Amino acid sequence: MIKINKNFLELQDNYLFSNINKKVESYLEKNPNANIIKLGIGDVTRPIPSSIVEKMKKAAEEMQYEDSFRGYGPEQGYEFLRKKILESEYKDLDIDLDEIFISDGAKCDTVNIIELFDKDIKVGIPNPVYPVYLDSNIIYGTSGKYIVEKNEYENIIYINFTEENNFEPLPEELEQIPDLIYICSPNNPTGTVMKKDNLEKWVKFAKKNNSIILFDAAYEAFIKDEDIPHSIYEVSGAKEVAIEFKSFSKTAGFTGLRCAYTIVPKNIRIMNDGKEVSSNKLWNRRQSTKFNGVSYITQRAAESVYTEEGKKEIKDNITYYMENAKIIKNGLEEIGIKTFGGVNSPYIWMKTPNGIESWRFFDVLLEEYNIVGTPGVGFGTNGEGFFRLTAFGNKFKTIEAMERLISKKEIIFDLI
Ligand code: PLP
Repeated sequence: MIKINKNFLELQDNYLFSNINKKVESYLEKNPNANIIKLGIGDVTRPIPSSIVEKMKKAAEEMQYEDSFRGYGPEQGYEFLRKKILESEYKDLDIDLDEIFISDGAKCDTVNIIELFDKDIKVGIPNPVYPVYLDSNIIYGTSGKYIVEKNEYENIIYINFTEENNFEPLPEELEQIPDLIYICSPNNPTGTVMKKDNLEKWVKFAKKNNSIILFDAAYEAFIKDEDIPHSIYEVSGAKEVAIEFKSFSKTAGFTGLRCAYTIVPKNIRIMNDGKEVSSNKLWNRRQSTKFNGVSYITQRAAESVYTEEGKKEIKDNITYYMENAKIIKNGLEEIGIKTFGGVNSPYIWMKTPNGIESWRFFDVLLEEYNIVGTPGVGFGTNGEGFFRLTAFGNKFKTIEAMERLISKKEIIFDLI
C-alpha cells in the first residue's frame, strides 16, 4: 500500500504571505481608492541590466545554429561561469574550480544539501529565520516532532536572534551543540550582519565539535562596510567546516531567471564508521543524479554580470535599493522607532512601537497609512514585537511611505 512521507504532516501551515494578501485584498474591497505602498516584498523590482539581456539574446541566437547549439550542459555548471566566479569572488580565498557548483537557486541548494547528512543529526536553526531552512528540515525528518506547548520542534536547536544579542548570536549562547548550523549573513529577516570576529568564533566552534556550517550569503552584494566578510572563507579554517551559498537573484535581478552557486570545499570531510567521506564528492554525485544544470542562456547571462558594464549596472541597482533602505531607516528613526539592519542589507527590522504585536502593527500600518510590511512573528517566535520592511520597492513610493508615517506619527505611538 502506498504511504506518504509523514514528515509533511509535521509542517505547520505558514499563512504569513497569504494572510498578508488576504488582509490587503479585503482592505481594498472596502477602500478601492486606497493607494497602497508595498514595503513587504522580498523580491527585486529593478529590471535585469541591459548589458546582461544583450548577452542572453546572443546566447539564444547561438542555439539556432548547429555548430553553436548546446544540449545538456554539465550538472556542475559551465566552466566559463565557474571560472568567472572563481576569479571574481574567490580570487584570494584558495577555492578550486571543482568546489563551485552552479544551480538554479540558493533556495534549492540550502534545501537539497541536507540530503548529504543523516536524519538523526541535530540541526541549529535561527529564530527568526528564512522559513525555508526550517521547513526543509521538517520534510527531510531532521526536525522531529512539533511540540505544541513549546511551539518548537523536538530535535531543532534554536539559535536565538534577539535585541539583547544585537541579532548576532554567538556559539557560547547555545545550550546544545548542533551538528549542522545555518548562518545567514546579511540576514533575512533581521538585516543584520555577522562581523568577522564573530564568524571566527562560529568556525572555531564548528571545528571543535565536528559540525558543519551552512553559510547563506544570498545578500552579500549589499554589504557596504569594509570589515564585514563577503564570504565565510575569509575566515581562516572555514574551508574545513563551511559550505557557502550565493545567488544572482538579489545581486543582479535574477529572481525570475534563476542562477546561483554553492561552494562545497574538498577539505570538508565527514567521518563515517571510521572512514572519511568527502562532502564535495557526495554533492557532486547528488547533483549529477538529480540536477540537470542551469540553461546555457542563463549561465551566459550570469557570466556577463562580471563584465565592466554588468558590474556597473548591477552596482547602480544595489545603490538604488540601498538608498531606499536609508530612506526607510532614517524615516523610522526620525519618529523614534528603533531599527536594525538596513545598512549592509536591503532589510530593515524595526521594533514595533510600545512593543505591540507584529500583526496588530501590520493592521495599523495598512489601515492608517496604507503601507504593507511583514510581521516579524511570521519568521519565528523571536520575531514577535518586530516588523520587516524591505528596500526593494520604488524610490518615490518609499519616500512617500515615510512621509505618511512622519506626518501622522502620533497614531502609532498612541497604540498600547
Ligand atoms: N536565502 C535567503 C536568505 C533568501 O532570503 C532567499 C530569497 O528570498 C534565498 C536564499 C533564495 O535565493 P534564490 O533566489 O537564489 O533561490
